[in-house]
Amino acid sequence: MIANPIRVVPLRTEAAAPVGAPRLTYRGGALLASVQVFLFFWGDAWQQDPQLGLVQQVNDFFEFVLTSPLMDQMAEYSVQDFTIGPGARTGAIVLTTAPPATVQDAAIQQLIQEEIASDPAVSQPTSNSLYYVFLPPGVTVDLDGSSSCVSFCGYHSDIDGNLFYAVMPYPECAGCTGGLAILDALTSTSSHELCEAVTDPVPGQGWYDDQNGEIGDICAWQTKRLGAHLVQLEWSNAQGQCV
Ligand SMILES: [Zn+2]
Repeated sequence: MIANPIRVVPLRTEAAAPVGAPRLTYRGGALLASVQVFLFFWGDAWQQDPQLGLVQQVNDFFEFVLTSPLMDQMAEYSVQDFTIGPGARTGAIVLTTAPPATVQDAAIQQLIQEEIASDPAVSQPTSNSLYYVFLPPGVTVDLDGSSSCVSFCGYHSDIDGNLFYAVMPYPECAGCTGGLAILDALTSTSSHELCEAVTDPVPGQGWYDDQNGEIGDICAWQTKRLGAHLVQLEWSNAQGQCV
């Protein structure tokens, strides 16, 4: 196992060219073969414009992307026990409790677990579940002592190796909008973490490159339009390039 596998979206200004010739190898862990996505929007700021409009647009994005050609791209990373195919959005909820101005990763993990345990509106986890937590403007996320908008723009991780989640700080700094509209920055970062959670849900135990990290890291901030939506390019071992 890798001690500290890369699992964050870097700031655009810090996205580096890959080291050597990227090549992901499979480390034997679980994959999310048919990813089931549930969305948390944390804070009542998501009930006010412009965030209220973004909630609908981000939901629409997931409805689209989980059955889009982006998921078809992931099929090359299928292994004997996990045949990667389309996913589904299982639901979304706005949580009106206020997150702290700086929220620790541990508090996000706790929120997800408490919501699953106590809120009937939240989908119960399966081996394919992926929970996204979107933070409102003005909230900084702290991951192991590094901060959103200083060191990263998003990340995915696991709780005890069997509960999978992704964290999306609100992109309100130049490094995390990368010159994009807020919605495009959110969907680009969300797609980066989606593809990584599918192919490496326990970071470093699925498909990983020791030099360059996960599938999205190699292509960070390279984007394309899929339909109306902006997504990030992802590394293809088969094609030897970001696609
Ligand atoms: Zn990444």
